[in-house]
Amino acid sequence: MNIALIAHDKKKDDLVQFATAYKQIFSQHSLFATGTTGKRLQEEVGLTVHRFQSGPFGGDQEIGAYIANNKMDVVIFFRDPLTAQPHEPDVTALIRLCDVYAVPLATNMGTAEALIRGLQRGDIDWRSLQE
Ligand code: PGA
Repeated sequence: MNIALIAHDKKKDDLVQFATAYKQIFSQHSLFATGTTGKRLQEEVGLTVHRFQSGPFGGDQEIGAYIANNKMDVVIFFRDPLTAQPHEPDVTALIRLCDVYAVPLATNMGTAEALIRGLQRGDIDWRSLQE
């Protein structure tokens, strides 16, 4: 599966912690991330990650393009709901595209945990039947 990982600045520590806890599962999949998030996942967790541009510089839109082309199976996006983002329209667009294409999306750690466990259990194997 292709998994996108994104975290706003104040949520990056949480994502690093989450990815460390589930490293064994993540390492079985192809990982993609926005620039700064991806750098931290590579350096601090030791995962292999394809890095797009940083979020405010178009990374969210690059991930959106993958979704629109049916190339992203899961999106884990630790949003910061308490801080205004300069690229808020991109954030909204990315979430919208997940809904357009029914791509499983977690925007906080509680849901991400359920999603990653479901992924491991095969709950979203239907994604590989998508054309
Ligand atoms: P970043 O982008 O990983 O490059 O910080 C995330 C975001 O703010 O959308």
